Amino acid sequence: MPKYGAIEAGGTKFMVAVGKDPLRLERVTRIATSDEPAETIGAVVEYFRGQGPLDALGIATFGPVDFATGRITTTPKLAWRNYPLKETLERALGVRAGFDTDVNAAALAEARLGAGRGAGDLVYFTVGTGIGGGAIAGGRLVHGMMHPEMGHLPVRRAAEEAPGFAGVCPYHGDCLEGMASGPALEARWGRRAELLPADHPAWRVEADYLAQACMAVACVLSPLVIVLGGGVMEQEHLIAMVRQRLEEQARGYFPLPRIERPALEHPGLSGALMLAMEAAR
Ligand code: ADP
Ligand code: ZN
Repeated sequence: MPKYGAIEAGGTKFMVAVGKDPLRLERVTRIATSDEPAETIGAVVEYFRGQGPLDALGIATFGPVDFATGRITTTPKLAWRNYPLKETLERALGVRAGFDTDVNAAALAEARLGAGRGAGDLVYFTVGTGIGGGAIAGGRLVHGMMHPEMGHLPVRRAAEEAPGFAGVCPYHGDCLEGMASGPALEARWGRRAELLPADHPAWRVEADYLAQACMAVACVLSPLVIVLGGGVMEQEHLIAMVRQRLEEQARGYFPLPRIERPALEHPGLSGALMLAMEAAR
């Protein structure tokens, strides 16, 4: 049976796994992302060399990326700028690699095997250190000139927004990521998001922005399901608040998509394994 390698590349960690089935990831391992790409990639290559021969590799990465060259492009992590991630790994491991954004891979896995099982139209958001969104539309991953950049959707200020808070996105200030990422919560409220109690006003503000994002993608792509993942969504009460805010914002004009937590344990990694399976075909 063919065996594949999966990589979810993030700004703080690379998650790696091997397997034959995206629902049964084997040897899931975390490798810290260092400022120096050679160090991280060296550890990733060593991991895969220890797993026996692979039929293909799937890479689900933070972005922005350039698909033509398989590079990460304008990341604030300077040494990773224009890093040829796909080519370096293909050469070092002697296999073909499928390559997409972390959130597109997660959307693929959740649409085929997870919260949207069988849905041809699904959007996946991660709400963590940054915010990103990936989409399946008409059964296919959405690419375009590059790939969707839903984290930088413009948002309106929430009614309960802290006066004077300018947002933390280095490019736009008060875009979705600037207002609703983990670092935005920390900058606004003065403590890490995981330390804010469930009854803190932070969560009403947070739910407002995430509902705006759901509204925007519902209007543009009409997905059946929107999956909300990432560290900030570990707050169990938050998803119900987002659903309620979305209903308020949509005002009954059209049927709303289901808003769900990820059903898979590692949506990005499972999606990466699916990218490997496609690359092998
Ligand atoms: P990354 O985006 O770096 O891959 P995460 O998705 O875990 O990793 O996002 C990290 C961000 O999420 C941090 O800003 C952190 O404060 C926040 N976070 C992590 N866990 C929780 C939690 N349980 N509740 C709220 N926020 C959290
Ligand atoms: Zn932005």
